[in-house]
Amino acid sequence: MAEMELWFTEQQTPDLGFTCKITKTIYTAKTQYQDLAILETKQFGRMLVLDGAVQTTIADEFCYHELISHVPLFTHPNPKKVAVIGGGDGGVIREILKHDEVEKAYLIEIDREVIEASKKYLPEISCALDDERAEVVITDGIKFVSENKNMFDVIIVDSTDPVGPAVGLFQDSFYKAVFECLKEDGLFVAQTESPFYDQDLIKNVFHAVKSIFPITRLYLGFIPTYPSGLWSFTLGSKKYDPLEVDISKIKRIDTKYYNPELHKALFALPTFVQEIIK
Ligand code: SAM
Repeated sequence: MAEMELWFTEQQTPDLGFTCKITKTIYTAKTQYQDLAILETKQFGRMLVLDGAVQTTIADEFCYHELISHVPLFTHPNPKKVAVIGGGDGGVIREILKHDEVEKAYLIEIDREVIEASKKYLPEISCALDDERAEVVITDGIKFVSENKNMFDVIIVDSTDPVGPAVGLFQDSFYKAVFECLKEDGLFVAQTESPFYDQDLIKNVFHAVKSIFPITRLYLGFIPTYPSGLWSFTLGSKKYDPLEVDISKIKRIDTKYYNPELHKALFALPTFVQEIIK
């Protein structure tokens, strides 16, 4: 008898699915905030899924985690205090702590169970969460940011898609609070979805950030397991422009995607993406 095959499909749009063969369902839970699953896939290794959407996989996590971390951290000349909003898998914290000048990296995650499952089943990604420079705070990022002023050099918004508790992380009032939460020369970056499928979202976020921050830039990267593969990041900065960075001064750190030559190239946008943020 032929062996039964198991497949997981993320419904990326009402008309499109992304399907992977799975060898094992390692863990599932219904948390207070979302459905959580850790799957063993043939193609990408272990995969974290929240509410049916792929968050990260062992094979391609470096693309996303390096892109969202090193662009802001190499744009700020001296990032000492950094916060991650969301990011419960710990991948962004791991990348932040590759920067020696960072004294403290805070993880502000609403769902404790994402952190616990990642620590247990995705140690390659969550490995830095117990570092003495890392501090985990379990709370809503919207509340945290609005209650703390003038505190961080860099804030990285590593959120789920804009559904459930993450809806407010894509709203104007949140970006205003992020501005206040940053020091006077601070900057922030947020993951802002696919330029193929989420054009209205990118447009709205870009214009909201532009109305608050003196410098607003969009950059792109390639993440195989995210919808369309092409992914956008929106950066808002009070003082430092990623396009003015002297790339000859960027330190070489251990990365697989990011490098100094890419730093500015990531901001060169295809024409259809330039049109979105016009
Ligand atoms: N890289 C992933 C992506 O782009 O799909 C996101 C990874 S990370 C697991 C996203 C985290 O954001 C989730 O663990 C979720 O619990 C958290 N989150 C969602 N809304 C939040 C909020 N309001 N405050 C703090 N964390 C939040």
